[in-house]
Amino acid sequence: MRKYSVYLAFVLNLAIVFGFWWVRSGSLLLSGEAVATLLSLGRISGLLLVFFVLLQVLLIGRTGWIERLFGFDKLARVHRLSGYSLSAFLVLHPLLTVWSYALESEVSYWNKFLSLFNFGEDIQGAVIAFMLFAIVIVSSITIARRKLKYESWYFVHLLVYVAILTSFGHQLSLGGDFRGQTTFSAYWMALYLFVFTNLLFFRLLRPIYSFWRYRFRVLKIVPETSDTYSIYLSGRNLEKFNFRSGQFALFRFLAKGHFLQEHPFSFSDVSGKELLRITVKNLGDYTKDLVAVTPGTLVMVDGPHGIFTPKRATGNKILVIAGGVGITPIRSLIGAFSAENKDVVLLYGNKTQADIVFGQELDKFISTNKLKLHNVLSGDPAWQGEKGFIDEEKIRRLVPDVSARDVYLCGPDPMMKAVLGALQKLGVSRNKIYFEEFAL
Ligand SMILES: Cc1cc2nc3c(=O)[nH]c(=O)nc-3n(C[C@H](O)[C@H](O)[C@H](O)COP(=O)(O)OP(=O)(O)OC[C@H]3O[C@@H](n4cnc5c(N)ncnc54)[C@H](O)[C@@H]3O)c2cc1C
Repeated sequence: MRKYSVYLAFVLNLAIVFGFWWVRSGSLLLSGEAVATLLSLGRISGLLLVFFVLLQVLLIGRTGWIERLFGFDKLARVHRLSGYSLSAFLVLHPLLTVWSYALESEVSYWNKFLSLFNFGEDIQGAVIAFMLFAIVIVSSITIARRKLKYESWYFVHLLVYVAILTSFGHQLSLGGDFRGQTTFSAYWMALYLFVFTNLLFFRLLRPIYSFWRYRFRVLKIVPETSDTYSIYLSGRNLEKFNFRSGQFALFRFLAKGHFLQEHPFSFSDVSGKELLRITVKNLGDYTKDLVAVTPGTLVMVDGPHGIFTPKRATGNKILVIAGGVGITPIRSLIGAFSAENKDVVLLYGNKTQADIVFGQELDKFISTNKLKLHNVLSGDPAWQGEKGFIDEEKIRRLVPDVSARDVYLCGPDPMMKAVLGALQKLGVSRNKIYFEEFAL
C-alpha cells in the first residue's frame, strides 16, 4: 500500500509539472510556429530534467522511508537507468531552447549560444551545470565506469550537487514557465526543499547522530580464511541499535587513510546485542588495508539498510544459496531462521575447502538439526562432496522441494544470474526469490 502511495506521489508531481507547463507554454506548442514549438518543448525538457535530477537525489540519498519499501539495490538500479534517460533531457533542453532563440533572431545556433553568455551569471551557471552533468553521465557509462576506480567515479558523481546549485538561478530568473507564476515558483522551491531536507537528514544528520549515540569502535579483527576476516565492533547502547539479519550498513573507519571512504558490508551476525560483526573479503586496495585497522578505532555506521531480511519469507521452508563472501548476510539469516525453527537448506559455493567461511559456525547449526548444508566446490580435486557450480541439476537433486521454498541468494554476479535462471526453470515463483547484490 505504501509503495503505491510513493508511485502516486510521483505521478501527481509529474502531473503538476506538466500542468504548470501547459498553462504557460501549451499555447506555444499549439501555435504551429517553429520558434514557439521549439521553445515550448525546450521548456518542458528543462523542467523534466530538473524533476528527474531531484528524483535521482532522493533515490540514492539513502532516504530511509523509500529505502525501507524498495531496498537499496533496487533504488540503485532505478537510479542508474533513470540517469541514462536524463541524458536525453540534458541534450534536448539547451538544444531546443537555443535553437528557438536562434530562429527568432535569425542567427546561427552557435552565435546565439555564445551570445547567451552576455545574459549574466545565471546563464553562465546553467552552462557550467550542463558541462558537469555531462561529465557525470559520461563517467557512469558502463565502459568508462569499468575503467574508473570506484572512488574516482564517486567523487566525480559529487559534481552533481555543484551542477544543481549553479543551474538553479537561471530556472527562476529566465524560465518562461516561472515568470509571473508565483505558485509554480513556490512549488518548485518546495520540491528542492523537500529533496534536500531528506538528503541532509539521511545522508548527514542520521549517521552523525548514530555515531554520537552508539560510539562504534573496532573491538577485534579475526581471520576467517586466508583472504577473509571478521571485524567485531563494540559500542554503547548497542541493544538499541535496531538492525536485522541480512541487512548491511556503510562503514567509515576513522583511521589514517580511511577517513574519506565509506564501504558497504553486511552484518554477518546479529545474535549478540553487545557486538556487531561484519566479514570482509580482501578484494581490492581498501579491503586489503582494512585488516590492519587497530582495535579502538572509531567507526561511523550509516545504516542499517536493505530489505534482504527474514521478514520477506512467506513460508516455513527456506533455501539459502551463497557464493564466496556472499555468505555474510546469509549467515545472519540462518541464525534468524533457526531461531524461528524454520526448515533451512544451504547451498554454499566456493572454490576450495580452504575458502569456506564460517565452517565451524555452520556445523553448529547442522549438529542441532537447524540446517542442512551442501558445500559445492569448483576447484578442489580432493573434495569428496558436490563438485562444480550450483546449477539447475544440483538444485533439483539436492533440494527436490525447491518450488515450495522461499529462496535467499547472495554471491558473485555471474553466479546470481545463473542461479536465478535455474530457479525460474525449476518453477520457483519470482516473488519468492530475494537477492542481495554486492554492487551499488
Ligand atoms: C549491499 C552490499 C553489501 C556488501 N557486503 C559485503 C560483505 O559483507 N563482505 C564483503 O567482503 N563485501 C561486501 N560488499 C562488497 C564490498 O563493499 C566491496 O567488496 C568493497 O567495497 C570493495 O572495496 P575495495 O576498494 O577493496 O575493492 P575495489 O577493487 O576497489 O572494488 C571492487 C568493487 O567493489 C565496489 N566498491 C568499491 N568501493 C566501494 C564503495 N566505497 N562503496 C560501494 N561499493 C564499492 C565496486 O563495485 C568495485 O568495482 C558489499 C557490497 C554491497 C553493495
